[in-house]
Amino acid sequence: EQEYPRYIELARLTDTPAVTRDGVPNRLMTNIELPEDIDAVNRASANGVGLYRTEFLFMNRPEPPDEDEQYDCYTSVIEALKGKPLTIRTLDMGADKQVGSSCSNPALGLRAIRFSLKDRSQFRPQLRAILRASAHGPVRLMIPMLSNTQELHQVLSLINDTKIALQRESLAFAPDVKIGGMIEVPAAALTATDFASHMDFLSIGTNDLIQYTLAIDRVDDEVNYLYDPLHPAVLRLIKMTIDAGKDAGIPVAMCGEMAGDPRYTRLLLGMGLDEFSMHPTALPEVKRVINSSSIKALAPLVRELLDNTRPGRISERIDSLNKNTY
Ligand code: PEP
Ligand code: MG
Repeated sequence: EQEYPRYIELARLTDTPAVTRDGVPNRLMTNIELPEDIDAVNRASANGVGLYRTEFLFMNRPEPPDEDEQYDCYTSVIEALKGKPLTIRTLDMGADKQVGSSCSNPALGLRAIRFSLKDRSQFRPQLRAILRASAHGPVRLMIPMLSNTQELHQVLSLINDTKIALQRESLAFAPDVKIGGMIEVPAAALTATDFASHMDFLSIGTNDLIQYTLAIDRVDDEVNYLYDPLHPAVLRLIKMTIDAGKDAGIPVAMCGEMAGDPRYTRLLLGMGLDEFSMHPTALPEVKRVINSSSIKALAPLVRELLDNTRPGRISERIDSLNKNTY
């Protein structure tokens, strides 16, 4: 067969679906931060957006956007996606996306869902805007940084109240809008079955999961060298989360950086990950790996790799997983 340069090979893949050699389809989604990122999503022929980081709409301005501004913004993204799903993550304020907190350790502080549940004056209008936007196309609502199921139940009850209020006001929304949670705190990964039984999907946020599991600040360059997606502890938490989703019959996605790194694609396929969400530019290469892999061949190898996590061995095993034909 004729060998094409890599960029031509990748371009040829644009309109090919992501399907493994043994016929298992995978959803390849993109992460976006602003509505204008949608052009790149469509160019990459992604299956939709797996992570819309809405906090960027709130940053670098004196006043937060109100419900109507958010509704207009989300609706414009939904329309641009032409029927592909949009996963809207509720505000992940605090930590690296600062809003003027003086907390000395913001990653462990009042961020994301903790902040939203404490200061509902921002959360309520956002939930209303997301639900109203769901009348215009497939929306999945995603909750960041859950660490216990009480938080989850508070959110679910708030969503329920919001739906009742919208109904009373005769404002349209999709009654069956999918609600999912990010698994990015080790405690949530260890108890993923409890989350899975109350949600429509899970999405693993490896950027934070790795930071919290290995106790390394993701924005501190001095401990960068310890940041390791292949640490056995991280791999076990990922596997537990995927298994919890499978047991509950719900899909499990990954939207941290690890999902867009082709070095880990076969590992994650072998673990049973259903959906990968990444920067649009990473998508063609990940698709190329998926389309040249067989899950049937990878699953037993990955199981064995996870059972034998002696130091130094994992990296070697990943290399051989990537080199050979499976
Ligand atoms: C993550 O933590 O992996 C994630 C996707 O969220 P963020 O990078 O926005 O914290
Ligand atoms: Mg995160």
